[in-house]
Amino acid sequence: MLYDRIYNFSAGPSILPEPVLESVRDNLLNYEGSGMCVMEMSHRSKVFQQIIDEAEQDLRDLMNIPDNYKVLFIQGGATLAFASIPMNLMKNGVACYVETGAWSKKAIAEAKKYGEVKVVASSKDKNYSYIPDCSDLDIPDNADYVYICENETIHGTTWQKLPNTKGKILVSDQSSMFLSKPCNVSDYGLIYGGVQKNIGPAGMIIAIIREDLIRPASELPSWVPTYCAFSTHADAGSMYNTPNCWSIYVCGQVFKYLKSIGGLEAMEKRNIEKAQIMYDFLDQSKMFKGTVQKEHRSLMNIPFVTESAELDAEVVAATKKAGFDNLKGHKSVGGLRASIYNAMPKDGVEALVKFLTEFEANYNK
Ligand SMILES: *Cc1c(COP(=O)(O)O)cnc(C)c1O
Repeated sequence: MLYDRIYNFSAGPSILPEPVLESVRDNLLNYEGSGMCVMEMSHRSKVFQQIIDEAEQDLRDLMNIPDNYKVLFIQGGATLAFASIPMNLMKNGVACYVETGAWSKKAIAEAKKYGEVKVVASSKDKNYSYIPDCSDLDIPDNADYVYICENETIHGTTWQKLPNTKGKILVSDQSSMFLSKPCNVSDYGLIYGGVQKNIGPAGMIIAIIREDLIRPASELPSWVPTYCAFSTHADAGSMYNTPNCWSIYVCGQVFKYLKSIGGLEAMEKRNIEKAQIMYDFLDQSKMFKGTVQKEHRSLMNIPFVTESAELDAEVVAATKKAGFDNLKGHKSVGGLRASIYNAMPKDGVEALVKFLTEFEANYNK
């Protein structure tokens, strides 16, 4: 193998499609005849303007984003968005959150700094191993929005059916499922996510926001930082200040790659196939068990455990030695976790299942 690459099951930053890495490599020193690397370019240059415009257009094509939604590239990660969202969307100062795991909990804690947060449903009672029924939530009339984390990266749950928001705006953190399947954008007021899980290099979110929800800075409390006002980014084409040029460029290459393989329908088909291989294995194994209720299992993040923390650690060490990396579960959950994002080939999942099958067969022999 030329580059000696391994199967990387990291939850984020994570695996990228090899054709994208190769294209980035080929253009590294001289991007398409510009004579420089994208990292060396002015964000105000014509070349870069074309990069960002194409990235936006390709994303719009992939997700069928309606014209009345803006696409924003913003730094600070999903963590800054946890604060920016209430700053921008709380008009009445009240928001409803669904608590499904580590990332929605963090969003809740942050939103509480800016207004009243009503946790309208939670799966805490069973250690966040399912998505609560959200067909009839108690949503106050003055709620500004309903917030969900659509794929809990650490707990491995995903929403099959969006909540009934009773007419309120739906806000969704799609960080770890962005572009993993088709998405009906008009079901949401705001979709956002850090790109380092399923799209590109760390350091940026993509926010897809309905235009009428972008309030001018003059309508926001005066203490809201300029950078946190969504209007700042919307009014300046995501270039109010120096954007994360490199991430925008590589994400754009990933969008082109996704289009080339047939778009999000084709991607979803591959993702279902990959996840099925892993879940079929877990369902028949006597040593390994998935931790999530079947109907809420994620296509992207698959946590599983053995009977003990010692054996978990032993398996993690053995996988690492065999060329599979980053299978250790998040410290808050323990066990193991296989993140099988868009770029993970089916081969990688099959190889892992083969390894775990043999590990189980040889154990105690
Ligand atoms: C990783 C992750 C975050 C945090 O992202 P940062 O970009 O590191 O701030 C938030 N939400 C979800 C679902 C995540 O997976």
